[in-house]
Amino acid sequence: MKKELTTEDLKLLLAGTHIKLDCGHQATPGHNFANTIIIVSLGGGKIETSCAECGY
Ligand SMILES: [Zn+2]
Repeated sequence: MKKELTTEDLKLLLAGTHIKLDCGHQATPGHNFANTIIIVSLGGGKIETSCAECGY
């Protein structure tokens, strides 16, 4: 398994997928890239996701 994912890899993984963000909003990369997804690394392998509206 690869250690690193590139943005290109993420795009392929996420394309057409409805992503339920931790902030409660949804994003669908590939359909509507107006939704910015913020991925925050919390350490210990944990991540948290949110949209640009809620992430700041
Ligand atoms: Zn949000």
